[in-house]
Amino acid sequence: MYIFDAHIDTLGILAEQNGGEDLATLTGTHVNLAKMRRAGISAQIFAIYVPDRYRHGLALHKALKMVDIFWENLRKYPQELQPLLWRSDCQIIEGNDMPIRCMLSLEGGEALEGSIANLRNFFRLGVRALTITWNHRNELADGVGEGKGASGLSEFGREVVAEMNRLGMVIDVSHLAEPGFWDVLDESNQPIIASHSNAYTLCQHRRNLTDAQIKAIADCGGVVGVNFYPGFLTKQPEMADIEHVVEQIVHLIDVGGSETAALGSDFDGIGAVPVGLENVEKTPLLISKLKKRGLSEAVVEKVMGKNLLRVVRQVLPEKSS
Ligand SMILES: [Zn+2]
Repeated sequence: MYIFDAHIDTLGILAEQNGGEDLATLTGTHVNLAKMRRAGISAQIFAIYVPDRYRHGLALHKALKMVDIFWENLRKYPQELQPLLWRSDCQIIEGNDMPIRCMLSLEGGEALEGSIANLRNFFRLGVRALTITWNHRNELADGVGEGKGASGLSEFGREVVAEMNRLGMVIDVSHLAEPGFWDVLDESNQPIIASHSNAYTLCQHRRNLTDAQIKAIADCGGVVGVNFYPGFLTKQPEMADIEHVVEQIVHLIDVGGSETAALGSDFDGIGAVPVGLENVEKTPLLISKLKKRGLSEAVVEKVMGKNLLRVVRQVLPEKSS
């Protein structure tokens, strides 16, 4: 089955290794090349997340380093890893020997450092998605961590949304505070995604989306990638298992329809995992669990990857000759 996950943080772990490891040699992580292969991953969005300690003055520097790590891995393993850059890269080609399509995403607009030129330069370097904020305020908008004082998109944030629409980049609203969320929906003429967020109805956490937000993402043709982090799955995170992920997916479908649910594991960005989904090798177990819950083969295929692919294919540009 075609599996396309919307969010992992493995590049962040590689960045901390200072070039000592790559995707193939990495051990002890949720994701490495062998584990992705055993899982049968077809495509993957790799996040560039810049930790707080680099945020002020070093965000762009750090993000560029992570762009290089991404491309160096693809250069080293061309049989295994191929970039996902253009609409023509969005094909469903199954088979365990096919290269994994790798898409680069910037998690948090901090790395733009207030410059629309930097957005265009990241696009030229192969970045095809941007999470508007992480949990804090940045030049674009406020993250969920700003609480009740959060406001919406700044003028620069609006400019970024418009330019992303023009370039053909996927807008990601995970981590974004609600005022900004609604502003993005108003401004964007393309479907948006929440790459790694869950339903607030099932788990009352600030990182999760209300049913109104899920419905709005569905209405614009976007997707929500279910996050495997126990603290976002259930109010009793110590009890979290794969069934809680199934519950979240079923809820996304109930509220937004079968076109809306996707995967956004957050592997290698989360300090705890649910029982039964300990690393990427376990991801395919969701297929049988979802079928057992009564979802049809066609709907399970959408959840596991086809929904996300649909949005990416719609948003990404045609390759320019
Ligand atoms: Zn995140």
